[in-house]
Formats: sequence, C-alpha cells, structure tokens
Amino acid sequence: MKSYAGKILRVDLSRGEVTEEETREEWLSKYYGQKGLGIRYLLEGIDPSIDPLSPENEIALTPGIFGGTMVPSCGKLSITSKSPATGTISDGSVGGTIGAEIKYAGYDAIIVKGKANHLVYLYITPDKTEIKDAEFLQGKGTFQTEFMLKKELKDEEVKILSIGPAGENLVKFACITSELYRQQGRGGIGAVMGSKNLKAIAVKGGKDIAVPDMPSFLSSLREIIKESVLIPPNEFLLSDGTWSYGDWMQEGGILPTRNFQTGISPTYERFHSELKDKFKKSNKACVGCPLACGNYIEVDGIVFEGPEYESLNMTGNNCQIPDLKAIVQFNRSLDDLGLDSISTGNIIAFVMEMTERGIHDFGISFGDTENYLKLPEKIAYRRGIDNDLAEGVRFLSEKYGGKDFAMHVKGLEIPAYEPRGAWGMGLNYATSDRGACHMRAFTPAYEVIEKTIEPYTFKGKARLVIDLQHYNAVKFSIGICDFWGLNLELLAKLLNMATGSNADSEELTKAGERIYNLGRIFNVMAGFRRKEDTLPERLFTDPLPEGPAKGKVLPRKEFEAALSEYYHLRGWSEEGVPSKQKLEEIGVDKQAIEKFQKYLSSHSV
Ligand code: SF4
Repeated sequence: MKSYAGKILRVDLSRGEVTEEETREEWLSKYYGQKGLGIRYLLEGIDPSIDPLSPENEIALTPGIFGGTMVPSCGKLSITSKSPATGTISDGSVGGTIGAEIKYAGYDAIIVKGKANHLVYLYITPDKTEIKDAEFLQGKGTFQTEFMLKKELKDEEVKILSIGPAGENLVKFACITSELYRQQGRGGIGAVMGSKNLKAIAVKGGKDIAVPDMPSFLSSLREIIKESVLIPPNEFLLSDGTWSYGDWMQEGGILPTRNFQTGISPTYERFHSELKDKFKKSNKACVGCPLACGNYIEVDGIVFEGPEYESLNMTGNNCQIPDLKAIVQFNRSLDDLGLDSISTGNIIAFVMEMTERGIHDFGISFGDTENYLKLPEKIAYRRGIDNDLAEGVRFLSEKYGGKDFAMHVKGLEIPAYEPRGAWGMGLNYATSDRGACHMRAFTPAYEVIEKTIEPYTFKGKARLVIDLQHYNAVKFSIGICDFWGLNLELLAKLLNMATGSNADSEELTKAGERIYNLGRIFNVMAGFRRKEDTLPERLFTDPLPEGPAKGKVLPRKEFEAALSEYYHLRGWSEEGVPSKQKLEEIGVDKQAIEKFQKYLSSHSV
C-alpha cells in the first residue's frame, strides 16, 4: 500500500537479534498506523498482565501513514508500551523529525523487547541496524547524549531519541526526548527504555515514500494548507503556541493551582500569553508543520523551547511558583534529566500540600523556589526521600497518606485542566485508556473555550466524551497532530490521496471506535474494571473556593450514572468489559477477539 514502508523492524535486546518482517497489511486497513498499529502489535506481542519493567514488555515506535510525506502537521512519532505508572496500555507521541526519519529508514514500526546486558543504543539505517555500546553515555542528560551521539556517529543530521538519568533509574514518569525539547512525556515509557538498558535510538534514513499521484497530491496539499491549516482559528498556535490555553483556563476557573485546591491563580497575569512576546525569539516546528507551535524564548539569559501550557501551569501555578525564570530553569532541567513535566509538577504540588497540612514533612512548601529548583535532579537520581517521589503521586499517598488529594487516575498524574469546572473532563480522565489524559477527549474546548456546552452537568457528556475519544483515536492512528482540528471528511481525503484507499468519514468513525476498544481489551486483560475508572476524592468532596466554578464539585451519584451511560453507549458491560458482539460489529480483527475471549473465559468475567 502506498505511503507505507511495508516493513517492520524487530529488536530483541536479550538475544542481541535484529530481524525484519513485512508489515501486517490486514492490520493497516483496520488500525492504520501510530496509536492503532502500536496497540495492535503490543496486544499480539505481550501478555497484558506482565510487569511493565520486565524484559518481556515491548516498545513500539510507529511513525504513521503520512510520516515522511508533505502532509502538514503529521510529524509526530507514536510510542506505545505497557506503562509502569499505570499498568495500562500507553501510547503517546513525540514531535520533531524522528518519525519521518524512521519512514525514510524503511519502517512502519520498530518493536523493541528484551534487556541488554549493558547500556546500549540502536543505530538504524536502511542497510542495517546495529546494537552498539552506550556505556560512555551512562548517567548523561538527554542534551549531552544527543551531542555525544552525533559526534560518535560523525553525523550532525542523525535523528535521536534518548532517555536521561531518570529513565536509566526507572523513575515512573521518565520521558523520552528528541531534539532536546521534544518529549514523549506521559506514562513513564522512558523507564521502560531504561529497564531494557536502552539509552538511545539513532536513525538515519535515505529511502523515499511513494504516493499514488504526486502532482495532484502536492497541488491538493497546497490548497488544504491554505483552506484548512493556515486559517484564523489556528493563528494563535503560530503567535502564542499553547500559552493561550492558560488565559482560557484562568478565565473559566479551571486552572489547577496549589495542587488543585483552586482553579484561579492570583499571579496568573505574570504568565498571560501576551507577555511571552517579551521573551519570544522565534518559532519552532515539527517537520513539515506550518503551524510551528513551538516557542523559542530567552529569559534572563536562559534559552529554551517552551514551556508549553501544561508544563508552565503544572510546574508554575500548581506549585505556586510565580517566577518565569525559575519555571524555565526547572523545565530545562526536566527535559535534560528526562522527566515528564506534568507528573513532576503534580507530584511536587502534592508533597507541598502534605508538608503544609502537617501530614508529612517533605521539606518543601508552596512557593519555596529554592528547594523546588533542587528537586528534579534529586528525583532523577533517586536521592534520599526523593527516591519515593520518583514512584509517583499514587505511591506517595499510599505510603505517607493524603489519598484524598493525590491527583491521579490509575496512577497517572492529572494534567492542567480542573474537572470540577468542566465535568466532561472528569468523565474523560476516568475512562481514558492511559489514566488521566487530556488528549483523549478535550471537552474544555466546548465547555470553557467555545462555551457551546454547559460545563457543570453530566448530561450529554457520555456521548461527547465517546465521540471525541473515537475522533482522536483515529486521528492519532492515521497520524495528525492534536492541534490541527481537521474534520473526518478531510482526514479521509488525505488518507485516500496518500494510500490509494477509498475510506470515508463513516469508516473513520468506526475505526476510531475499533481502535479505542482495542486499548480497552488490553486494559481489561491487564486487570482494569469499573472500580479503576474513577477520580480522586477531592473532586467529589471539595468545592472549588472561587471563580466561575465556585462551589462546584462533581456529584458522585451523577458521575456514576454518567459512567454507566458511557459503558451502555459503548456496548460494554456494567464492569466496563466490551462484548464479543460489539467487537465483531466494529470490525476488531478475529485474532484479537479470540485472544480476548480466551482471557475472559479463563478469568470468569
Ligand atoms: S502543531 Fe506544533 S506540535 Fe503539532 S505538528 Fe505542528 S509544530 Fe508539531
């Protein structure tokens, strides 16, 4: 099929073996690429109940159908594995240029399993893949790792994914970095790489990608960029990047502040999107993306790409650190050490509240910039009590107390959207396939930004969340960035132009449901049921103290009713288990259904 490379690369680090095989064509037409293909290969390759940090776990890198073509905003690489933070399936993406390079090297997927007996890196080219010694990179940050690897390979243009000391030390929220400031952040997949003694993956391409009709492909793309990408609703990405989200969330009263104690920040004006012009030096884009949402900034001599909204808020307002220079310094060290900024900000805010409430003294309170700046290194190297911080907020609350205000779902720390002021987001966090993730169904777009849907109700939210989860599942599988809100008609047109297929929006809607159910199959087989589809107690019991959502909590009974409605609409049981009939109806492949049915019959579900 056009636009696909036709091959996948398998690396077994325990055996030191590298093999190639043909991409499973029957899966491409059902699951496409990126998210869908990654989950499908994982479901085939591993037992979902395994320890995520064991050699049996696999990491699938899937660049997507459009990777390497001139389709706009398609430069992301999806990375899928079983998460050590949650125990669920976890797919996430990293921007930059590495995704396209994997396609140019000739692969639709790279799947790594096993564990090397010492620290190694992979060097992948179209001709061969080598497992090379990486002991000279041990303990190095991701910045230095990229520089040293380029020097070692005598190639400035080689594309690199790497982990920092956090990944090597199996920190549960270790991320994977590319090009210094691009991260696959969530779910601790950096620790999975660390558990395999895999420090980095360097890729050098050279092959072409074919599309059915190049002249018409290019002229259609020119038109699409003009009509659908570079249009007024997307202009804020070029001018502000994601900083505008902070303005909207503050205005809607859902800006997490002081460990989600309130949704309004008293110092927000210091981070208003208009202020970034004082610091902004230039834009940065992923390969081929005209939206170029990355901001290069300079604050008091510190040059940095970012911080994007999530990082800015979770490590700023949520920890009551109103100092942009400190936040930039902090985030720069997170990127270098290989730590996810959302989880790190959430965890530090939790220990600050624990200290202030006198439940346990972690030696840091809200607004303590001096100790805040010391924490990333202590966490990444697991020094002293900060060894416990490296296990995440769920672990901390189980060991030291504070479960009611440990802001996570299934072990994944909640990102920068407060659900008491956007109830759909609560249902989304509870049902997201990788724990508290804002990128599965971003309901604040309607509840807070556009204000087209009532935020303080669950009425209609089950349908809304499901539809958005399906839309994103298929969009992230075909391989388009979150920030380009194209409709499914246009997505189908792009798919057909690139592959020669004949899909329509109806088929893509069904594919979204198919892919979302595939993730649920994995999670049910990993032991997840209704009781895990829940939210932190604070959201049910502590009213927001101020702002537009003042006095709001999520009413527990209504939340449970919305969850039941969500399962019912999906054709899942009251326990959240997909039925065989539903899986057949939406076209999940026979082998996956059989594997699932075998699991269900042996577990009396
Ligand atoms: S919108 Fe931003 S994150 Fe998305 S592809 Fe473009 S530059 Fe990358």
